[in-house]
Amino acid sequence: VNDSLRPVELSEDNLLGGLLASGFDIGACLSRYQSSLYRKASPYKPFPYLLSRLRAYEDLHKRCGPHTNSYNHAVKQLQSGRTASPTDCNYIVWISFSGLGNRILTLASAFLYALLTNRVLLVDPGTDMTDLFCEPFPNTSWFLPMDFPLKNQFKDFDKKSPHCHGYMLKNNLLNASSGTIPTYLYLHLVHDYDDHDKLFFCEEEQTLLAKVPWLFLRTDNYFVPSVFLIPSFEQELSRLFPEKITPFHHLGRYLFHPTNEVWGLITRYYNAYLAKADERIGIQLRIFETSKGPFQHVKDQILNCVLKEKLLPEVSKQDSFFPSSGSQKSKAVLMTSLTSGYYEMLREMYWEYPTVAGEVVAIYQPSHEEFQQSEKKMHNRKAWAEICLLSLTDTLVTSAWSTFGYVAQGLGGLKPWILYKAENKTAPDPPCVRAMSMEPCFHAPPFWDCKAKKGIDTGILVPHVRHCEDMNWGLKLV
Ligand code: GDP
Repeated sequence: VNDSLRPVELSEDNLLGGLLASGFDIGACLSRYQSSLYRKASPYKPFPYLLSRLRAYEDLHKRCGPHTNSYNHAVKQLQSGRTASPTDCNYIVWISFSGLGNRILTLASAFLYALLTNRVLLVDPGTDMTDLFCEPFPNTSWFLPMDFPLKNQFKDFDKKSPHCHGYMLKNNLLNASSGTIPTYLYLHLVHDYDDHDKLFFCEEEQTLLAKVPWLFLRTDNYFVPSVFLIPSFEQELSRLFPEKITPFHHLGRYLFHPTNEVWGLITRYYNAYLAKADERIGIQLRIFETSKGPFQHVKDQILNCVLKEKLLPEVSKQDSFFPSSGSQKSKAVLMTSLTSGYYEMLREMYWEYPTVAGEVVAIYQPSHEEFQQSEKKMHNRKAWAEICLLSLTDTLVTSAWSTFGYVAQGLGGLKPWILYKAENKTAPDPPCVRAMSMEPCFHAPPFWDCKAKKGIDTGILVPHVRHCEDMNWGLKLV
C-alpha cells in the first residue's frame, strides 16, 4: 500500500485542534489530515463555541444538502416562484467569479454569513472548483447539483437584473411590510456595486433578507470586516471569534483542502526544495502594471524591503569567497510570480556574492505562467499549490492589493511584510510595511451609517475594524 494511504490515527493535531470533523474517507482527500505534517501548528486555537457551531452547521448541511427531501422541497418552491411560505432550510448560493485568491476569500465570507444566518452554503462549481477543492462537510456535498434550475441564469445576474437586491430597493420593489417576500434574491457585492447594493450591510436589510429562502451571491470581495459592523451579528461573532483576527485563518483551514492532484504538486515541491532548509521565506509578487516587466523599480523595492527588514542576509560585494564553517544556516526562499525576472535577480545575487555571515540562500520559484489564465485547469492547480506553499513558510512578504497573498498569509497564520504598490514606476519609500494582522483586506467597503442615513468613515468606528496597510480606503480586522 502506498504509505500515504495507510489509515492514520486521527489526533488533535491532524484535526487542527478539533476544527476538522473526523469521518471522511482519508484517501479521497489526503491534504485534509496530512496538512498538519507540513504546516506549523497554529498559535491560535479555535474556541469551543466555534467548534460546536461548525458541528451544528455540518448537521444542518447534511439535513438540507443536495437531493435531500428539504432541498427538493425548497427547489420546487423556487421553481414555482410562489412567495415563500417558511421553509425548513434556507440557502445561499455562491456564484463562481474572479481569480482564485478572490474566490477563496469570498467563499469564506459566504460561509461565515451562512453560519450567522443559519443558511446552507452551496457552491457553484464553475469550471474548476471541484478540481481544486475537496468537500469540507462530511457525508454530503457543498457543490450545487448540475441540474439546479436557475443555473443557466447565473451569468445574467447583475446589478440591473430584476431580482437584484439593490436594484429592487432602488426601484421600491421590496417592501417587507407588504408581506410579499420573494423566493429568491440576487446579492451583487462585486466591487462595482452601488449604494443600494451596499445596504446589504444594514441591519434593517438583514431582517428582510432573513425571510428569503434563496440568496444568490456574486462577489469579489472579502466582506467580513463590514459584517463585524452589523449590530445584530456582533454578539455571535464575538463568541465565534474572541480573537478578532482569526475568522479567515480558522474558516480557511476548515474549508479549503486541496484535492489530491494539487496536494501532489504541493508536497512534491515542498519535499524537493523547502523541507530541509533551516528557514523558509516566501516572497509573493503580484505586480499590477499594464506591461509585463521585470521592472527595475520593483527589483529595487524587493531588495530594499528584504534587506532593511533583515528577512534575507546582506551579501558582500568586496569579498568573493568566505571559507565555509560547515555549519551555516540555510534559507530557502520560495518566490511566486507570473514572471521569472525577479527570481533571477535574487538567485544571481546570492550566487555571485557570498553572504556576510555565511548563510546559504537558495531561491526557488515553481512556475512563471506569464499571465492570468483562469480558464486552464493546470494553471489554476498551480496557482492554488503556490498559495499553499507560501502558507507553509516561516516568514512571508506579499504584494499590496493581492488576494493571492491574503489567502497565503491567512492560511499560514502569518503577519506578512507587504510591499507597497508602486506609483509612477518608482520604488516606494519605505518599500514595505509589517501587516497589523493576518486578516485579508476588504477592498470595497461601504461608508454608510445605516441609522443616521449619512456617509461615515467605517474604518474608525471600533478598534478591531481599521483601514488596511496596503489600501487606505479598505477595511480589515486587527
Ligand atoms: P489577485 O488578482 O492577486 O488578487 O489574485 P487572484 O488569485 O484573485 O487572481 C490572480 C490570478 O492570476 C491567480 O488566480 C492566478 O491564476 C494568476 N496568478 C497571479 N499570481 C500568480 C503566481 O504567482 N503564480 C501563479 N501560478 N499564478 C498566479
